Amino acid sequence: MKLKAMINSLNTNLDIQKSETSKIENVDFENLAFGRTFTDHMFVCDFIDGKWQQPKIMPYQAMTFEPSARVFHYGQAVFEGMKAYKDNAGKIWLFRPEANHKRINISSARLAMPEFPKDYFFAGLETLLKMDKEWIQPGIGNSLYIRPFVIATEPAISASPASTYRFMIICSPAKAYYSGKVRVLFAEKYSRSADGGVGFAKASGNYAAQFYPTSLAQEKGYQQIIWTDAHTHEYLEEAGTMNIFFRIDDRLVTAPTSDRILDGITRKSIIQLAEDNGVTVEIRRVPVTEIKEAARNGSLKEIFGAGTAAVVSPISAFEHGNEVFEIPDLENSYASKFKKQLQDIQHNLSEDKHGWRH
Ligand code: PMP
Repeated sequence: MKLKAMINSLNTNLDIQKSETSKIENVDFENLAFGRTFTDHMFVCDFIDGKWQQPKIMPYQAMTFEPSARVFHYGQAVFEGMKAYKDNAGKIWLFRPEANHKRINISSARLAMPEFPKDYFFAGLETLLKMDKEWIQPGIGNSLYIRPFVIATEPAISASPASTYRFMIICSPAKAYYSGKVRVLFAEKYSRSADGGVGFAKASGNYAAQFYPTSLAQEKGYQQIIWTDAHTHEYLEEAGTMNIFFRIDDRLVTAPTSDRILDGITRKSIIQLAEDNGVTVEIRRVPVTEIKEAARNGSLKEIFGAGTAAVVSPISAFEHGNEVFEIPDLENSYASKFKKQLQDIQHNLSEDKHGWRH
């Protein structure tokens, strides 16, 4: 069956409970703190007896779980981050959502959790977006942040995979994630992931493990850490929620994805856009020493992060080995150029030659 037909047949089967009132009147869309405000509805589907049960849409609300639910003890949880945009005609667009669906299942498999079916994922997502479409503001920079996630719900405190899970989607209206430029610390002691580990998965525990080292970096005046390889700390890998690009002269350099690095959708889109623009992209290991030398000799023109939440975040300075390097502002930066090209595609303002809009 074609996906569209599957969605239609499923939609009729989705158990939909509409919220009687909307919270939208109380929302100040001009002053949104990221991830604090949630739309009227959420999507919920339970995995019981070895299969995903009837999916539901219901009013966004608190839920109860037994204190012994395995997610609380063993962190068996994965998530995704994606966005919906409204164009000037009021049409709603997702950006490469198949990639998010694939990735949540890659994450789930690594955490010994069941994969979530594509037809349920899209039926849930599309129905939810139609029901909460008033929450999506048009205009560049505005979006609806979408958070699909899966948690182990089985009440049992023994360290093994659960037999029951809950898949959910919640949505939060968003403006730009970071304001201004970001100063970063290159990791010299702590690591976010290791060979053979879970760095490539959007496992909840990966994020918790970054909070403490990041808070130490923040005390020193840095907003983020650029993680290096756990083995030698000599190669730059990615930031906490962003992949990282370095512009050396006119070449763009980024680390290859691996079992330590998340395969970011913004990253692969920027690599494609750069190539479309005739920019040479080098996907290879990025030695800390090379970036420090390039900063000294002036060939390091830009560093920027790339991720769904922030889209593109220019980095204005980095510290490593107690040395601070400031990166001068650049007119016509790749960061601003590729951010604009990406946002124009996302908001249906330019041709979508790679078929990224959904
Ligand atoms: N790396 C990590 C660790 C992340 O959490 C994210 C955010 N999903 C990214 C990179 C960027 O990925 P994407 O472009 O798919 O949002």
